[in-house]
Amino acid sequence: MSKQKTSLSEKMARLKDSFVSQLPERVSELEDALQQLSAPTDASNPALCTLHRHWHSLKGASRIFGFNELAKIASLAEAELQPLLESDNSPVDADWLVHQQDLVKKLVLHFASLDQRDGVHKSSFQVPFFEMGQINHHWQELGSPLIYVCDDETEQVEYLEYQLQCFGYRVRHFTDVDDFEQTVMQQQPDAIVMDVHFPQGKTAGTETLNRVNQRLGYQLPALVLSGMEHFEARLSAYRAGCRSYFTKPVKPLTLANALDKLVRKPETDPYQVLIVDDEPAVAAYHSLILENAGIKVRQVHDPAEVLNALREFTPDLILIDVYMPGCNGYELAGVIRQVPEYLGISIIYLSSETDPKKQLSAMEVGVEGFITKPVVPDELVAAVLLRAERMRALRGLMTRDSLTGLYNHTTTTEIISAILAQASRYNEPLVLAALDLDLFKQVNDNYGHQAGDQVLLALSHMLKNRLRHGDIVGRYGGEEFVILLRDTDIQAAHNLLDQLRREFSGIVFSAGSDTFSCSFSVGLSTFVNYSTLDELMHNADNALYQAKELGRNRVIACSGDQHGD
Ligand code: GH3
Ligand code: MG
Ligand code: MG
Repeated sequence: MSKQKTSLSEKMARLKDSFVSQLPERVSELEDALQQLSAPTDASNPALCTLHRHWHSLKGASRIFGFNELAKIASLAEAELQPLLESDNSPVDADWLVHQQDLVKKLVLHFASLDQRDGVHKSSFQVPFFEMGQINHHWQELGSPLIYVCDDETEQVEYLEYQLQCFGYRVRHFTDVDDFEQTVMQQQPDAIVMDVHFPQGKTAGTETLNRVNQRLGYQLPALVLSGMEHFEARLSAYRAGCRSYFTKPVKPLTLANALDKLVRKPETDPYQVLIVDDEPAVAAYHSLILENAGIKVRQVHDPAEVLNALREFTPDLILIDVYMPGCNGYELAGVIRQVPEYLGISIIYLSSETDPKKQLSAMEVGVEGFITKPVVPDELVAAVLLRAERMRALRGLMTRDSLTGLYNHTTTTEIISAILAQASRYNEPLVLAALDLDLFKQVNDNYGHQAGDQVLLALSHMLKNRLRHGDIVGRYGGEEFVILLRDTDIQAAHNLLDQLRREFSGIVFSAGSDTFSCSFSVGLSTFVNYSTLDELMHNADNALYQAKELGRNRVIACSGDQHGD
């Protein structure tokens, strides 16, 4: 690493030092504001807002750097200010003022005691292994989401910015709402994290968002991250189109999940429907209605052709006409239900049958619904979408791990085997990675199972966001993951996973008042050398075992592969 690159722990230490060195200045700002309130005054005095802002920002920064006592004092002072800020013009009474001054004194005393203690300037905030300058933004080629964070509390945001980068976001930070507004009008981000309170006003952040949305003529995806809990702040956020509202301090993973929801594109694969109707004109009519709603449709006019059609077209749903010559709809449904592979496909009858008894008995073969002809177009679309969505969700449950949303063991194996078969035909270079969290049992033992789950979620989140579209990631077992990197050689795979490893170990998790970080080890094997999935897995596992033996938190390529560690 070159000299100018600074490790995160050094950077954090510097931030903490600068926070400490700015404390005297903060104290005099508090004193100034209190001075301005000392003459008889009321709640309309702007010095109250200033005072609030100073306490508030002190509270947040103290928490971040672990000065809990300072945070407590600031939080108490802020809480005392709240009722005054919320009332219109109640007088500021003398006792209240004295108490605020006492809190400032307490702050000074505490600060003095800190100052005398050895090493206060040396940060204990340690995030191991991570070198800030080392991120080589693999994901930029994928156009990783750009997030604008607008918040005037620099210390907290720098920390958040770094953590969000680990989750695969590009972050640009603004401390001033006007700068923010100017930039947004030129380049729109994928999502915005906005604070509410700025020097310009109590709700200047959300007001700016509103203005920007109006100027653009559409709503930018945004969420609020604020130190304020009161109704007015929440309402202003809602009015600015922010459906999520977080109060500081927020866990980076929580924020990353919320951002994910904001930036994720809707499922792009359209739903697919097979229409079986002996009347071509009727089939065409229904087809048109569904296609108009963005659904992909295939028509079959002869029931005997349905099984053939299903071999090349995989619908989410089949729409069957009941009265057809040769084989009626009920019989056809029965035939389709004989094939286990097609159990995941929803079937709906389309018929002019209106007798509910007959409809019921028709559904006995495992058919989900009955739509009577003539159909109302919107109803047909709604009925089809509802069932298709449900069936996709159910299929998802069968193939995905419920905690992380990654492919489960069975599905991972199936998909990777299929890809291997293809790759051997085309000579595509592939790398298989077996990844296992280090000393994960200790995480559970020390911080609880829930904290362990957070780590699993963060890891799967990072893998999903940072690997390419065609790469496969599965949760193979409890804390074991398998990754198939396509069209990649061992050296590139090694570099990528090693980078992810460094970044992951930089993520700071919290459990109650504790913070911790976690690492993983990886074993790699290449397809060039090993042809079956079993062989690949076996070699990747061996390499993983070596990585663990050598002290964990590293990536090792199987010794048969050219890249050692
Ligand atoms: P090593 O570095 O050698 O891999 O040590 P380890 O502690 O990670 O390995 P070990 O196999 O001894 O422990 C794995 C732990 O993973 C034990 C189990 O409780 C935990 N685990 C497995 N699945 C889950 C899960 O879904 N959630 C949580 N929180 N823990 C899990
Ligand atoms: Mg482990
Ligand atoms: Mg294990």
